[in-house]
Amino acid sequence: MSSPTPSPILISDVQQTVARELRRIAPIIDELGARFNEAGHQLALVGGPVRDAMLGRLQTDLDFTTSAHPDVTEKLLKGWADAIWDMGRDFGTIGCRKGEWQVEITTYRSEAYDPDSRKPEVAYGDSLVGDLGRRDFTVNSMALTVPDRGFEDPFGGIVDLASRVLRTPGRPEDSFSDDPLRMMRAARFAAQLGFDVAPEVVAAMTEMAGRIEIISAERVRDELVKLICAPFPRRGLLLLVETGLASYVLPELPALALERDEHHRHKDVYEHTLIVLEQSIDQEQRLGGPDFISRFAALMHDVGKPKTRRFESGGVVTFHHHDVVGAKITAKRMRALRFSNDEIDAVSKLVELHLRFHGYGEGEWTDSAVRRYVRDAGDQLERLHILTRADCTTRNQRKANRLRAAYDDLEARIERLSEEEELASIRPDLDGTQIMEILGIPPGREVGEAYRFLLELRMDEGPKSAEAAREALLEWWAARP
Ligand code: ATP
Ligand code: MG
Repeated sequence: MSSPTPSPILISDVQQTVARELRRIAPIIDELGARFNEAGHQLALVGGPVRDAMLGRLQTDLDFTTSAHPDVTEKLLKGWADAIWDMGRDFGTIGCRKGEWQVEITTYRSEAYDPDSRKPEVAYGDSLVGDLGRRDFTVNSMALTVPDRGFEDPFGGIVDLASRVLRTPGRPEDSFSDDPLRMMRAARFAAQLGFDVAPEVVAAMTEMAGRIEIISAERVRDELVKLICAPFPRRGLLLLVETGLASYVLPELPALALERDEHHRHKDVYEHTLIVLEQSIDQEQRLGGPDFISRFAALMHDVGKPKTRRFESGGVVTFHHHDVVGAKITAKRMRALRFSNDEIDAVSKLVELHLRFHGYGEGEWTDSAVRRYVRDAGDQLERLHILTRADCTTRNQRKANRLRAAYDDLEARIERLSEEEELASIRPDLDGTQIMEILGIPPGREVGEAYRFLLELRMDEGPKSAEAAREALLEWWAARP
């Protein structure tokens, strides 16, 4: 089971890692640095890529900060970059591509956050150190000037990186009041990097959690998605819940910590959920890598439980229809977070179907039930397999083995049926034109009814010859009132 712990960071390793990463990006930073310097401007690699070069996780995104204003930056990039685009001139950022490298160059900032507005108000700054002081965390406030390769670290980011801790360059209260999104970013980086958050930062997050409400849903969502797709999502989620931020951005999660009844008659749904998330991550190779839909479905699969919990006589606790109720709650939350309709449909479908398999028992499903399972899951079938398997957190090994074997059996049956029939795209044996021809009717409501009858028949009895389908259709037609 994953609940991975990050490995320690040694400064001697950092040195070697940085040297290796610098050799890799040397052509880019040397050329670009020289271009800016010749024009009388300063340029520095900054933030994410400096941090990631030290952690050996540098990808192909290179962020720079510069004394040049955006129009000058754009001129300096012309003739060098393969493509140039405006990332939002108001924010002072110009983007470009050079070979495999995605480059973003932002003018020095000294930005203040207007508490009445949802957008940071940007003012250009005039120094590198000033720009670094405006950044979110010390590990993101390091820079490498180019082409001379001077290391700027005015807030001790390298020490915090070695001790794996997120700290703000100034007082966390001031930083979060300038931009409350940084509280979400703390949780996101904790999840991505496996770092701890400094106690004074956690305290400020706890104190100021409610301020997150001035941030747009889209910006909150983007941080949440990154957190959930990170290598250590449990860390980020615990932090959101512990600080109270989750009560604003994902209240369904803390609600899962149902106060336990005195006899401990049911499991802690919150802890169960985190384990289901980790067990679904363990199966992600089936999907080719980190998958937000699958992870979020795991996180939301039981959110219908608090609302449906009933204490029956004899000390029994039930959660009837928590799948259907949970799917609705999930869709509502995802709409509030401005997810796309496709994402909302996918996750809420998985939540709704996560219990369906439990009627399977010892494999007594009919072919018809198997077909319906496949049809209802549609393009979420692979994720439904993962979620259903992950949803078994019993410590009773015999029970766990029995469930796994039953699901193996179901998947084998699906595969067998799929070979015989094209399960994924079940259609009736006759199409609309044939129906009209056989029944001698014009287009209209009755054709639709006949089509649905044939589809149900196809589900129940499997494929038929055209002749057999024709007979069944006529029989149904004759028996209609
Ligand atoms: P990644 O790109 O891997 O998600 P990153 O560290 O590059 O991580 P970005 O969101 O791309 O993060 O931001 C780039 C840099 O800009 C950060 O490293 C940080 O220095 C700074 N930054 C971004 N957003 C903020 C913010 N809201 N407040 C302060 N500084 C920020
Ligand atoms: Mg970045």
